Amino acid sequence: MAICTLCPRQCGVDRSERTGFCGMGEKPRVARAALHFWEEPCISGTRGSGAVFFSGCTLRCAFCQNYEISHLGQGREISVRRLADIFKTLEDQGAHNINLVTATPFARAVLDALDLYKPQIPVVWNTGGYETLETLRMLEGAVDVYLPDLKHVSSRLSKLCAAAPDYFETASKAIPEMCRQTGKARYSEDGMMLRGVIVRHLVLPGCTVDSCRALDFIAEKLPRGTPVSLMRQYTPSPHCTIPGLEKRVTDQEYARVLRHFEALGLSGFIQEKESADAVYTPPFDLTGV
Ligand code: SF4
Repeated sequence: MAICTLCPRQCGVDRSERTGFCGMGEKPRVARAALHFWEEPCISGTRGSGAVFFSGCTLRCAFCQNYEISHLGQGREISVRRLADIFKTLEDQGAHNINLVTATPFARAVLDALDLYKPQIPVVWNTGGYETLETLRMLEGAVDVYLPDLKHVSSRLSKLCAAAPDYFETASKAIPEMCRQTGKARYSEDGMMLRGVIVRHLVLPGCTVDSCRALDFIAEKLPRGTPVSLMRQYTPSPHCTIPGLEKRVTDQEYARVLRHFEALGLSGFIQEKESADAVYTPPFDLTGV
């Protein structure tokens, strides 16, 4: 393998010999591959999204709900052939799509697996939004739906949470590239997304000003009508030591961001309060791997 520059960390390491920031070696590492029902309705539908949870992460947010896989790297190394077989199994199980969750360190392996088996259902790239234009261009034509987060605008906040002061600078270029690739959102007759981008934003406690700035960017810079998923599922993580992030988002905080969302004329998905519960994090127990 050549030196790895797949994400903005640009570690430049040979991952067959040592790991970079994401902590991942060369082979795909997966913690769970199963039908998943907790994405937006046009992704999960009635039969579930065929979610493949990859281990490792290029952001490793301090508050991550998937700590075991993003920070600890839990999972099993598999071959490209096995990854292709997983895609087929999920499709056979009735998945509405193949949902690749934090797959950036394995972008090349994913493309190789899709060469071996191209599902007849949409391929979804589920990402923290911290992507290089080069890697996104590599994915063009193979990915039908992008599900990027737009986590932070403040570089102070992204440095604190993910050691990535360049997060917004990067994501603010990456997300428009995703929109360019997919064009306007398209849906099947039963309302499932076939092509397009859904931008997700998770409201953090004490950070409503930054949330409103993220929504401003979406309204001003992304194509009109791009669906936005405004998430209130923030659940304090026992591993997170950042002051202020040990709390939940209050009703007032969420309402404030929601008012801004509506004032900007954004549309998409609004999460119910009940979703702020760790039960929505699936077990990373190698199911389907
Ligand atoms: S994918 Fe991993 S090794 Fe490659 S540049 Fe990103 S963090 Fe570094």
